[in-house]
Amino acid sequence: MSDLEDVVPNSETPDFYDVRSLLTDEERSVQDTVARFVDQRVLPIVGECFEHGRFPLELVPEIGRLGLLGATLTDYGCAGLSHVASGLIMQELERGDSGLRSFVSVQSGLVMYPIQRYGSDEQKQRWLPALARAAAIGCFGLTEPDGGSDAGAMKTHARRANGDWVINGAKLWITNGTLADVAVVWAVTEDGVGGFLVEKGTPGFSAHDIQHKFSLRASVTSALFFDDVRVPERNRLPGARGLAAPLSCLTQARYGIAWGAIGAAQACYQEALRFARQRVLFGQPLINKQITQQRLAEMLRQITTAQMLALQLGRLKDAGRAHHAQVSLAKWNNVRMAISVAREARDMLGAGGISVECCPVRHLLNLESVVTYEGTETIHQLIIGREIAGVGAF
Ligand SMILES: Cc1cc2nc3c(=O)[nH]c(=O)nc-3n(C[C@H](O)[C@H](O)[C@H](O)COP(=O)(O)OP(=O)(O)OC[C@H]3O[C@@H](n4cnc5c(N)ncnc54)[C@H](O)[C@@H]3O)c2cc1C
Repeated sequence: MSDLEDVVPNSETPDFYDVRSLLTDEERSVQDTVARFVDQRVLPIVGECFEHGRFPLELVPEIGRLGLLGATLTDYGCAGLSHVASGLIMQELERGDSGLRSFVSVQSGLVMYPIQRYGSDEQKQRWLPALARAAAIGCFGLTEPDGGSDAGAMKTHARRANGDWVINGAKLWITNGTLADVAVVWAVTEDGVGGFLVEKGTPGFSAHDIQHKFSLRASVTSALFFDDVRVPERNRLPGARGLAAPLSCLTQARYGIAWGAIGAAQACYQEALRFARQRVLFGQPLINKQITQQRLAEMLRQITTAQMLALQLGRLKDAGRAHHAQVSLAKWNNVRMAISVAREARDMLGAGGISVECCPVRHLLNLESVVTYEGTETIHQLIIGREIAGVGAF
């Protein structure tokens, strides 16, 4: 038998099935760079940010310099990385905090992606280089006060007026809303759902932050209002016709979440492991107890299966073969996995586990948003159900 059998699996980070060995050199290097950024810049401040409900805007320029925005796009100053590399970026960022990962998901998958896929050359030239280097921030307005899951029932509408468009309506729960220089806004038109680039300062357009959140406190979440907002035809995304356009953007962001959730779970597992080694109860470190080992083994099992799922999904995506229902399954599975790991880790830390000093409770609270946005768990189950049955049951 080969020496390989003696190789000790990495249960610390954890990477129990050596996913690292399946990555390219470039993917490993991207992961290491983002991991360093998170260790040095994010972790020292993120607890304070969460506690005080503050988004760490000061980190955004460095995120731009590192090439983490629109990382899979080519040209316009984007890095042109593989989808696996972009997943690893999300994993490492969410090891820090879901809020920072949300910022990058929105800017990349929900703002840069639709401009690149559905925008005019002028729109791409104007916005993509600035969004890539974080000189501009974007947001994505789809969800409305009367419900997000049934996006086709949106009430925000745009009507033609002397060659311009006039938008009326409201969007709720919009990440980066008050920070954004440009909002990608979805509205019903006479030709079905259309996408519009609404710039900050346009008369009739206003945004305010949603306060009193228990979740994603280190992230800006806003409400957007459109009161006879006039935008020129050149601000309409010419290639976006119908609901399929915003839904295609959601598939991009959901893919990133499937990876990001692994990072949150890894952080919680590591903290529980550290604690179990240090805490002495009934004359022994907790780690020596059968029940503790069983709990850690269960967490490792869940994280490892999520890693394998995300990697294969990424390889399918890089081959142009990922189906949106596969993305749904990974988002559902991996976020549910992370919630389970975070809750278990929180409990294993005892009373200290409710403090902002420990990461599991922060991740757990954040994940309550992550399981809801980008399609609730029920919506993903119904998407997969439709693939199985051939009949939609929404
Ligand atoms: C922190 C945060 C940030 C967000 N950022 C953004 C953003 O940047 N842009 C954006 O557009 N949106 C954003 N959202 C909104 C998010 O996408 C929506 O909250 C989500 O789509 C669910 O919509 P809803 O909250 O209106 O719930 P609803 O759609 O009203 O759903 C309520 C409940 O009904 C269930 N349900 C839905 N359909 C069915 C069905 N057919 N059968 C049975 N049950 C069903 C749902 O699973 C849920 O449990 C964000 C949300 C949060 C919390």
